[in-house]
Amino acid sequence: MNKFNYYQPTEILFGTGRIQELGELALRYGKKCLLVTTPAIPALESMFNKVKKILTGAGLDVAHFDQVQPNPTTETITAGAKMASDFGAEVVIGVGGGSSMDSAKAIAVEATHEGTAWDYLFYKEPQPSEKTLPIIAVSTTSGTGSQVTQVAVITNTAKRDKSAIYNSIVYPKVCVVDPELMLTVPKKVTAPTGFDAFCHSFESTLHPNASPYIDCLAYKAIELVVKNLPVLLNDLSDLEARSNMALADTFAGLCIANAGVTLPHGVGMAISGMYPQVAHGESLAIIYPSFTRFTYKHAITQFATVARIFDKSLNGASDEVAAEKSCELVDDFLRKIGLWMDLKQFGMPENEIADLAKQSMVLPDYEGNPRVATPDEMLTLIEESFDRK
Ligand code: NAD
Repeated sequence: MNKFNYYQPTEILFGTGRIQELGELALRYGKKCLLVTTPAIPALESMFNKVKKILTGAGLDVAHFDQVQPNPTTETITAGAKMASDFGAEVVIGVGGGSSMDSAKAIAVEATHEGTAWDYLFYKEPQPSEKTLPIIAVSTTSGTGSQVTQVAVITNTAKRDKSAIYNSIVYPKVCVVDPELMLTVPKKVTAPTGFDAFCHSFESTLHPNASPYIDCLAYKAIELVVKNLPVLLNDLSDLEARSNMALADTFAGLCIANAGVTLPHGVGMAISGMYPQVAHGESLAIIYPSFTRFTYKHAITQFATVARIFDKSLNGASDEVAAEKSCELVDDFLRKIGLWMDLKQFGMPENEIADLAKQSMVLPDYEGNPRVATPDEMLTLIEESFDRK
């Protein structure tokens, strides 16, 4: 057996109603907290009010930074960090999807360090230090797994670049995964976030840091997504399906924190960096049909295992047959959950295909793929993803 590491410092509070415990959790770290969310659109207003009531009811002083947007930008982080400093925040609480939780992490860094959060990306020196404010994450999408990861994804609009802080210091100290908070997530967010959890799990099994821990978590998460996401899309109020997706999301987050993502995420980050109108999960859906066909022969066991999760009748087929079939099965799943998409439909100009291919090889994610794409192969993958008809 190969050597492996597994590390997870975030305390996980999972289950309906657990949001009620947020006040006592926050008090562990101080009395002044910065709450970080997207704006209070009608679907979210009562949740935010409930959270504020729980926090103030426990005796906390709350400042609410409610300016996060999907694919959060460096400008947003700077505004949030200023509010945290002016207020003297002792703990930062991100309530929302990956965008809000990642903003909370990046704000916790920028509020306590010289320069901006962008100066502390994974490849830069110095890295964020122990001065970083403690972070609490409350996930309201299922999703990104950010509630249990050491990653904060941010976008630099001026550079058209999406990158990440990747450091153990931004692991949330504690996270609350309360499926009741997810009942208001609309279909257009439920589908791509659910597919993101599938991708985190699958890509982790393909990553060089995969381990027996990853296999246990990832294949269970894939099973949960395949079974529950279509059910949930038919009835967004199904709490059991929401709970199962929240569990899949958390398992998948543990996978990326300990193994990692591969080629699709490198491409997906490039897509949303250049075209912020594309949600993260959508960017993955765009590249997946080409990625599966490009990769399956180089990871027969993993692709065959996923194929058999989709279709039990493949239990009797050879691994090679099942692995090849997985490409079609993933396509079918994307169609079923309404995510059969391409770059053209998001208004990407055709003359930027080469730029996007180049940008897709900036992050090291593509190098962890079982088949490493050459620049020409990456160009072909992007060309295929431009117009799927
Ligand atoms: P998101 O956080 O951008 O949210 C999408 C939309 O859904 C927002 O408008 C938000 O207000 C709304 N929303 C959230 N919860 C809701 C609820 N309960 N009811 C109604 N509306 C709700 O979406 P996301 O996919 O969760 O996060 C995407 C971001 O996370 C991207 O920037 C992506 O790159 C990043 N990401 C981070 C990690 C990590 O480990 N840190 C991993 C993967 C992706």
